[in-house]
Amino acid sequence: MKLSEKQQLFAQLIAQLILWSVDHGYRVTFGEAYRTPEQAALNAKNGRGIAKSLHTQRLAVDLNLFINGEYQTDSAAYLPLGEYWESIGGSWGGRFSRPDGNHFSLEHNGVR
Ligand SMILES: [Zn+2]
Repeated sequence: MKLSEKQQLFAQLIAQLILWSVDHGYRVTFGEAYRTPEQAALNAKNGRGIAKSLHTQRLAVDLNLFINGEYQTDSAAYLPLGEYWESIGGSWGGRFSRPDGNHFSLEHNGVR
């Protein structure tokens, strides 16, 4: 699969995730989607994220979760979304060694 095809699939799967979330009483807003390689390198230097982040490949998005109008800051709150995302082939940041519950990506060349 070409990278652009994978990016298109990712966008389609994120649409599915958002619709599933709404159907299950959750609400989300968009956090960061695309990130420039320059910003990713700066983040890595400051101990936030990795330089080869999938955000630079348009294969990751951070979604902000709201339950009953309350913004959720705990990665564990994102578990139902993470499990659904994994069930449709995605990788969820809540599984990272440093959990990043709002990060939803499509694995690419070993990066999540
Ligand atoms: Zn992210």
